[in-house]
Amino acid sequence: MQNLHVSIIGAGLGGLCLAQGLARAGIDFDVYERDARTDSRVQGYRLRIDATGQAALAHCLPPALNALFQQSCSACDGPGVLLDARLQPLPQRAAGSWRVDDTDAVPDRSAHRQTLREILLSGLESRVHFGHGCAGLDAAGLRLDGLPARPGTLVVAADGVHSALRRQHLPQAAPQDTDTVTIFGVAPSGSLAGDTLPADLRAGAGVVFGPGYALVLDAMRLPALPQLAQLLVPGSRLSDIPSYQYWAVIGERAAVLGEDSAAREADTASREAGAGRHWQRAAERLLAPVHPALAAMVAASDPAGIALKTVYSAPALPRWTQPGLTFLGDAIHAMSPAGGLGANTALADARSLATLLAQAQRGLPLGQALQRYEDDLRQRGNLAVEQSAQAAARIMGRGC
Ligand SMILES: Cc1cc2nc3c(=O)[nH]c(=O)nc-3n(C[C@H](O)[C@H](O)[C@H](O)COP(=O)(O)OP(=O)(O)OC[C@H]3O[C@@H](n4cnc5c(N)ncnc54)[C@H](O)[C@@H]3O)c2cc1C
Repeated sequence: MQNLHVSIIGAGLGGLCLAQGLARAGIDFDVYERDARTDSRVQGYRLRIDATGQAALAHCLPPALNALFQQSCSACDGPGVLLDARLQPLPQRAAGSWRVDDTDAVPDRSAHRQTLREILLSGLESRVHFGHGCAGLDAAGLRLDGLPARPGTLVVAADGVHSALRRQHLPQAAPQDTDTVTIFGVAPSGSLAGDTLPADLRAGAGVVFGPGYALVLDAMRLPALPQLAQLLVPGSRLSDIPSYQYWAVIGERAAVLGEDSAAREADTASREAGAGRHWQRAAERLLAPVHPALAAMVAASDPAGIALKTVYSAPALPRWTQPGLTFLGDAIHAMSPAGGLGANTALADARSLATLLAQAQRGLPLGQALQRYEDDLRQRGNLAVEQSAQAAARIMGRGC
């Protein structure tokens, strides 16, 4: 029996899922998160959690929290319609990783990202240290903002696409800017109205393919989350989230932002307060020619909740030899969101690592456990990055 202590950098989906898996296996850990709070910035909205992601959550979460996750998801009627820019059916543009009918044994779940994060935090509050980013790892140990790090057996870099630890230890694994961006936001539920919109689209779920971009829609119909939490996991807490209409535009930077210099500047300067207005206008301009109801839906969204993200894609996962350090999620395999695979792959990483560390706790040499994890990570991560790049190409209309 080995006594392990794991320092997880980043309290995102992958890092917290790993923490839950370690807690279930009785392994000691601390999580260090740069943001001051879970809602410090626009974190994102709807996440499609597929069978792989759901299996990882079921493995890592205690059963009652997993039941809360399942029931906290939107009641969705199906994947919605696939349409071209004239709003005519275009089913053949679906990406290989998308679920396009309801026949799968385990249907996808539409989760609200913050709700999933709150569920993943449940019961771990004393072990997750917000406001303590990691600047690096060297011979003296972890360098944390404002906190001495606890010496431990393993550091897991789960700090997302701009990972400080990846930059320090694997500069050759830096993800590339794909010249693609995504703008996303939420409008009040029922904002997608218009008699001339196809009835299927008025229901709020589907994808519209324009030249060089796609618009993804999902009508998120959420239950009363605080009450659900009290019912299923007494003592737990979920924020109340009103149902909403999710929208996200993903496409080539030139197609999405066009000649809009203000939006382009905001893209470059990024994350500046008030930038949401520019991106809102860019999305309205893009969608108005498709149908005025789509532009009206974007106009009805709160600009403070609209964000733009540059899409990055990782090179083939390298091997690394830094003892006591491993990677998980976007930190090592950033990919286009077009395939809906990034979070699902990060959750699967967490499951894989938690399983192998539990074996290490029971006596498997830690080096062997990490080797097995990294082999599995490389194989799944490379495949997901490739599938996501293919999905992005289909969305952009390349090779169709
Ligand atoms: C618009 C959009 C829609 C998407 N939809 C889907 C979807 O439907 N399905 C899907 O599977 N994927 C989707 N994705 C991808 C998904 O969001 C990511 O792949 C996923 O969040 C990766 O999880 P992670 O834990 O690796 O990283 P993150 O969730 O990014 O978490 C990283 C955490 O580390 C913290 N951090 C960063 N630097 C430091 C530091 N130096 N020290 C400490 N902490 C640090 C961050 O604040 C953050 O909390 C989508 C992405 C976007 C942009």
